[in-house]
Amino acid sequence: MELEHESTDYWKEIGVWIVIYIIILTVLSIFVLPYFFPFGMIAWFLVFIFGTYMLIMWHYENTAFVCPNCNYLFTTTLAKHTFSPNKFTEKYLKCPNCDKRVWCKGVLKKPVEHLIGTTLPQNKMKKK
Ligand SMILES: [Zn+2]
Repeated sequence: MELEHESTDYWKEIGVWIVIYIIILTVLSIFVLPYFFPFGMIAWFLVFIFGTYMLIMWHYENTAFVCPNCNYLFTTTLAKHTFSPNKFTEKYLKCPNCDKRVWCKGVLKKPVEHLIGTTLPQNKMKKK
């Protein structure tokens, strides 16, 4: 089980959801937004808010983070998850193990669920 491989799956899953979301918004923009004023606009806005909320929730529920400093695998709270800075698959978080604020790498949570709260062996984090 390689983390490199898992981060590819992670991108695939996120990519699929973002594409579906963009398609729905585009379809609504074309077919609903220009008509039924102002209800089309309100509906579009509600879908936009709901979609963003769903994406954040999905991302939160499916993401664990690895501290680059000590290799500790952990999950965060929804508030921290939503409001901490993002950098693609990385998030600026305080590691609960070594107490440092670092850019932690996001990984798909499911395959590593049993390892949450533990320090990963160094060889699993090997860079390409
Ligand atoms: Zn750490």
